Amino acid sequence: MTILVTGGSGFIGSHLVDHLLSETNDDVVVFDDLSTGTADNLAHLDTDRVDIRDGDVRDADAVVDAVADADAIYHLAAAVGVKNIVEKPLTSLQTNLQGTENVLEAAAEDRTPVFLASSSEVYGKSEDFPFSEDDDRVLGPTSTPRWSYAAAKATDEFLALAYHDERDLPVAVARFFNVVGPRQTGQYGMVVPTFVEQALAGEDLTVYGDGTQTRCFTHVSDAVEITHELLDAEVAHGEVFNVGSTEPTSINDLAERVIEVTGTDSEITHVPFEEVYGKDFEEPDHRRADVSKLRKTLGRVPESNLDRILHDIIDERTNEAVVSE
Ligand code: UDP
Repeated sequence: MTILVTGGSGFIGSHLVDHLLSETNDDVVVFDDLSTGTADNLAHLDTDRVDIRDGDVRDADAVVDAVADADAIYHLAAAVGVKNIVEKPLTSLQTNLQGTENVLEAAAEDRTPVFLASSSEVYGKSEDFPFSEDDDRVLGPTSTPRWSYAAAKATDEFLALAYHDERDLPVAVARFFNVVGPRQTGQYGMVVPTFVEQALAGEDLTVYGDGTQTRCFTHVSDAVEITHELLDAEVAHGEVFNVGSTEPTSINDLAERVIEVTGTDSEITHVPFEEVYGKDFEEPDHRRADVSKLRKTLGRVPESNLDRILHDIIDERTNEAVVSE
């Protein structure tokens, strides 16, 4: 079989490519414009089972070509990262809306199964914890660019479910909760790689706001295994699943843990949100996944805890430093 991974040079995408190569005999086509992904993420691969194509999901013809040869599609190409979305709302919207529609429309031609990566961001600033897939969503005004990402991802989900219902397209949707791990860059504002990079450089760790906000950090290896299982499970088609750890960590605790694990002399600095994202920025205080639907469907949920995640990230960064010396 030939498996298409859009966004396959990205953080989650490249881990999925590794997983598919090691766990299946399939060939993999990567479709990525390297906007937030990098060629480095796949540079370790030494196999003729991977075909890496430079392509933008907004280009409908290129998507049709890539989809034509595929037996299954993982659609992970997206504009990601709060910093990225706030700085480039238009490109982000176009990538996340047109890109997904192009993939679904092309896949519908031969009813090629599609996995769609969505996000816990769709719950917005809801305070109904933990979040279940059928819960109401609470988003701020359209004048606040941050919410455009949540609105686009929710529209992607509507599209996926509509293609499933009206065009009989097999499609599984996952709402990822703060997926982190090796290869993730701090460049787009994600907190874990940012803190690790700051700690290893001996710089202060920048906690935004008062640091009492919490997130459930999910190991990328759990996320990609579950991604693979969801698309393979027919019972998951036409359904949306939370994919996240259930261990909430405050950003203050995260910063302290990163300092402890790296043994750095760095200190913690609190920075007002306004200074980072400008005024009118809004932030979900807490985010926690109800993963009972996932457990019931696959018999498993993400299990790796924060210490394992930090260990794997720091291990990777330290090995990189040794190799480049
Ligand atoms: N954050 C922080 N310092 C940073 C980057 C992020 O304190 O250098 C905070 C951010 O405000 C949020 C949490 O860490 O409360 C998680 O941020 P991230 O961008 O990783 O994910 P998301 O906001 O999508 O949950």
